Amino acid sequence: MTSLIGETLRAVARAATRPEPGLHRAQTIAVCTRKGGVGKTTTAVNLAAGLAIRNHKKVLLVDMDGQGHCGSALHSELRGVTSETVGDILLGKRRDIQEAALATAIPGLWITPSDKDLGAAEDAMSSKLGKELLLRSALKVAKTHYDYIILDCPPNLGTLTVNAMMAADWALIPCDMSILALEGVDDIVETLDALDDTFGHELPVLGMLRTRVDLRNQKMNGRIEDALRGRYASMLLDTVIPVNTRLAQAQMDGQPILRHDASCTGAKAYDALLEELAPRLGL
Ligand code: ADP
Ligand code: MG
Repeated sequence: MTSLIGETLRAVARAATRPEPGLHRAQTIAVCTRKGGVGKTTTAVNLAAGLAIRNHKKVLLVDMDGQGHCGSALHSELRGVTSETVGDILLGKRRDIQEAALATAIPGLWITPSDKDLGAAEDAMSSKLGKELLLRSALKVAKTHYDYIILDCPPNLGTLTVNAMMAADWALIPCDMSILALEGVDDIVETLDALDDTFGHELPVLGMLRTRVDLRNQKMNGRIEDALRGRYASMLLDTVIPVNTRLAQAQMDGQPILRHDASCTGAKAYDALLEELAPRLGL
């Protein structure tokens, strides 16, 4: 009798945490730009966690960068282990990315981690027919399990970033207030145009997000902001993510900012981002 009750409770717990298939049609967001260190992973992790925590959505965070930073940025929240990574899935060793998703301690948030083998997988992908569309087909089933899928991209325009862009419904482009980051934004916008010309895949920009903004550096901030506004006025988000050491600490401690310190300026900025994106994302 006791074990029957135990079984029932376990089944209820599983049902409560595991996303049900067939009920969802995930919107997929690629967080991308051709520059490292600008806050792509910080944005992907905190957007994914925010959607799960604040909006009670079912969210899958997919690490498309072989540095594996999404997994380390959430290491305190991971529940269970998986031997499958994004690389295995893209090379067809598993059919769907859903099969490698790991639960987290945050209700509704799942993650498909990657590791340094993703670099080798990217090389192997280059000889495959339709190499740009491998992620898109690997997400087919997962799209029916989640409300949102967030793709954290590497800092280049290689096959993995192109796969993310081809699988996505939206591009979210972070830019810190440096000339090099601005060039990275220009390059990603050119790539969006090239994907449209080559594949007829028109990927709308969900927004350009100013990240790691040092509010003391008014002069440089003003120059970059003018350049962004001059080129991409309609895409530039009002939300600004300031430099906030709590965000870096949260990443080191393996937690999203909402679980680390929900009242710090970094957490408030990512809350403001969700609020600004809400109408576009149907929240
Ligand atoms: P990317 O994914 O673009 O390479 P990350 O998100 O990993 O960039 O950020 C690079 C580094 O900057 C990390 O150590 C991260 O913790 C830190 N960082 C990112 N955003 C902020 C911020 N707004 N304030 C302070 N540190 C930040
Ligand atoms: Mg990163």
